[in-house]
Amino acid sequence: MSESSGLFQLPEEHVALREAIRALAEKQIAPHAADVDEQERWPAEAHEALVRNGFHAIHIPEQYGGQGADAVAACIVIEEVARACASSSLIPAVNKLGTVPLLLAASEELKQLVLPSIAAGTDGISYALSEREAGSDTASMRTRAVLDGDHWVLNGTKCWITNAGESTWYTVMAVTDPTAARKSEGISAFVVHANDPGFIVGPKERKMGIKGSPTREISFENCAIPVSRIIGEPGTGLRTALRTLDHTRPTIGAQAIGIAQGALDATLAYIKERRQFGRTIADFQGVQFMVADMAMKVEAARNLVYIAAAAAERGDKNSGFLASSAKCLASDVAMEVTTDAVQLFGGAGYTRDFPVERMMRDAKITQIYEGTNQIQRIVMARSLLRG
Ligand SMILES: Cc1cc2nc3c(=O)[nH]c(=O)nc-3n(C[C@H](O)[C@H](O)[C@H](O)COP(=O)(O)OP(=O)(O)OC[C@H]3O[C@@H](n4cnc5c(N)ncnc54)[C@H](O)[C@@H]3O)c2cc1C
Repeated sequence: MSESSGLFQLPEEHVALREAIRALAEKQIAPHAADVDEQERWPAEAHEALVRNGFHAIHIPEQYGGQGADAVAACIVIEEVARACASSSLIPAVNKLGTVPLLLAASEELKQLVLPSIAAGTDGISYALSEREAGSDTASMRTRAVLDGDHWVLNGTKCWITNAGESTWYTVMAVTDPTAARKSEGISAFVVHANDPGFIVGPKERKMGIKGSPTREISFENCAIPVSRIIGEPGTGLRTALRTLDHTRPTIGAQAIGIAQGALDATLAYIKERRQFGRTIADFQGVQFMVADMAMKVEAARNLVYIAAAAAERGDKNSGFLASSAKCLASDVAMEVTTDAVQLFGGAGYTRDFPVERMMRDAKITQIYEGTNQIQRIVMARSLLRG
């Protein structure tokens, strides 16, 4: 074997992981994807299959009962689940999003309280940063946490919380010092349990896509949690929340390329079957150029996603730039590729009889959440201009 055999390619264990999760997704997740979307229901079959096979939160370190898989492996799992069902891919994606703040900054005691149940799959965790009036402008949040003896008391409402109602744990950012010189330095991060008194889950949003993943408001009405549930020091919460995104934006990129790959695969099968003008539509060069462009973009985005995931894992200095660029490129590609897929299915693509219509609706959210693509461009430009 030459020295260069491992040069710039995925290691064998990642290739084997992809084969395993693809087989599981095709057999146990894809068959339910249309029904999950149509009924707007929790993907129970996918959840069960992912937990049974240990794919629901593979990033959790071994000392907390997890598998300690690296960031590229987590992306591969999310990508392959999204290729079959975008809603289901939010199970591993949001378990990572909710736990990274803990992994980055929580006390050992708090990690031991929360992480083993996520690793075991008995609990899920959500991430609550956004509010109605504080979306892109996260530092303007109003949810308050006040220290009262040996408890923090939370009041306020978070919105757009993915998998709320299904999750047991919630990583919540709240203002602890409204007088801080910089708003961002008056925010702290906490972990709230679904059974904490004063924790309320709102009704499901009625969405365009990812309909199997519930999105809800969560509210806190004098919700008292033990002092030990703060993540890190008071005032560090927003920094932890934003550092988290450097690790998880690549996972949204992975979700996006999974959706795009699913649409591309369905399109390649369809154009080889569909006949017009006495030949398959795959015979037309205009169609061939379209699928070539689709595959080219997916491949480019996939590579950037893995590079960004690996940079975050290593803690590289430019991981923020790479995370934003991977999420932004992959989600723009997913929107373009799924739109072209619908186009190449013709009228059939516009119906719910084929999966590309669902994939086009599901792709759209990847341009919006974990920071809109305008915000990603702001992050990238800031990093470039800082030099
Ligand atoms: C289905 C779904 C699931 C979600 N899941 C979660 C979750 O689990 N946890 C969580 O905390 N949040 C979640 N979110 C929230 C999501 O991250 C926000 O919706 C997103 O960050 C945008 O905030 P906003 O909706 O308030 O839009 P706004 O901030 O109001 O933006 C509106 C438009 O203005 C643009 N804009 C805003 N500021 C600027 C600027 N400075 N320069 C240029 N353009 C700008 C935006 O790009 C956008 O196009 C979810 C949202 C959805 C829809």
